[in-house]
Amino acid sequence: MRYLSVAAVAGLLLSGTALAAPPVASDEALELAKKAIALRSVRGPDNKTPEVAALFRDALVAGGMPAADVEITRVDDTAYLIGTWRGSDPKLKPLVISGHMDVVEAKPADWKRDPFTPVVENGYLFGRGATDMKLDGAIAISALNDLRRTGYKPRRTIIIEFSGDEETVMTTSGLIADRLKNAELVINIDGGGGVLDETTGKPKYWTWQGAEKTYADIRLTVTDPGGHSSAPRPRNVIVVLSRALDKIGAYRFKPEVSPLTREALTKAAQFEEPQTGAAMKAFAANPADESAIAVLAANPATVGIIGTTCIPTLISGGHAENALPQRATANINCRIFPGHKPADIMAELAKVAGNPEIKFEDVTEGSVPSDASPMRPDFVAAITRAMAKVYPGVPIIPSQSSGASDSMYFRFHNVPSYGASPTFIKDSDSFSHGLNERTPISNIAPGIQYYRSVITDLSK
Ligand SMILES: [Zn+2]
Repeated sequence: MRYLSVAAVAGLLLSGTALAAPPVASDEALELAKKAIALRSVRGPDNKTPEVAALFRDALVAGGMPAADVEITRVDDTAYLIGTWRGSDPKLKPLVISGHMDVVEAKPADWKRDPFTPVVENGYLFGRGATDMKLDGAIAISALNDLRRTGYKPRRTIIIEFSGDEETVMTTSGLIADRLKNAELVINIDGGGGVLDETTGKPKYWTWQGAEKTYADIRLTVTDPGGHSSAPRPRNVIVVLSRALDKIGAYRFKPEVSPLTREALTKAAQFEEPQTGAAMKAFAANPADESAIAVLAANPATVGIIGTTCIPTLISGGHAENALPQRATANINCRIFPGHKPADIMAELAKVAGNPEIKFEDVTEGSVPSDASPMRPDFVAAITRAMAKVYPGVPIIPSQSSGASDSMYFRFHNVPSYGASPTFIKDSDSFSHGLNERTPISNIAPGIQYYRSVITDLSK
């Protein structure tokens, strides 16, 4: 997944004075990304994710990582990779750099270019995975290799890992987090990132992601013996369910802020149009401010950050035009504010429905609850220093996503995980998961410098 939480608005102009990364590392990163894009790592028949794993392993080994320390594990039609750079102090828990190798399906007929033929044109790398997230993966690998070339010796063990089904079922994501649940901290290079100004093309702001809402599906079911529609009874399960959905649809969970969303709202307010920005600041200061809540709740871009949301997404009922319905069901999709258990949210919905005839079940698949990661001073200091080196003066804004990434599984194990990709892109160029995906290659040199700085600070 690749998601920036703050909508861009033209305005603040800042100069990016990116330091040059060693050309060897930059060339290596671009070549590696191109080779990875050419491998169609899409779930299903002929999934080339295991070949991407072999490509990344070979790159790490060529960079000096012992072959015995790079492990590829096959899982169904995919694979995951864990590479270990052993630190000098085995008592320190490892630093994990986390990414994924799979991509979302791309239909060549819909694209201007073949999605699996990488092309560099007008300063952009084009291809499926250019944004999400083969270029990021290649930049991180090249940064590690570059650190080795310059003789760096970490005290803390550094692990770089790539899952193989992040975009679909996340089986490998869960397996990796289970194995690495003793980690000190995770830098997830599939999250966070920067926005370039639409007019000037210069860095406007950069976000890191410290929390994700928990995904849950709640099924409501009402049943009845049924009968002939010519002889109706007072109780009709479709009507019973409809009344409950009407109440749930009108219900608003209590708006709330966390330390992370308070800072996110306060700092991001300057990039929003004035009414939204003012509401963000007012809500951050007082989460009971009704006029601020009204503005933020009415805006699809901000409703998710002010609390839990649950909405009906599927409905079915009845079995024939001329029969009393025997069953009616609905799915309620919830995005739960970090810190709440899905069972508590389900109980709250049942109370809102107020009808014990309706059965409530949690039917969530492929998701685990995760709390926000703390705003750790060592992490915040490391990214602040790194950004100051490569993009001095660019505002740094924390964020909470409404979707889920591999960080969910680490946070489930209480391992702090932070989306912190150094890649900047214009909103108008952001086509991750979409058509004609592309990323400016001007990200490569500063990206390598950024990783060198962050990884060194957190492992020395
Ligand atoms: Zn992704």
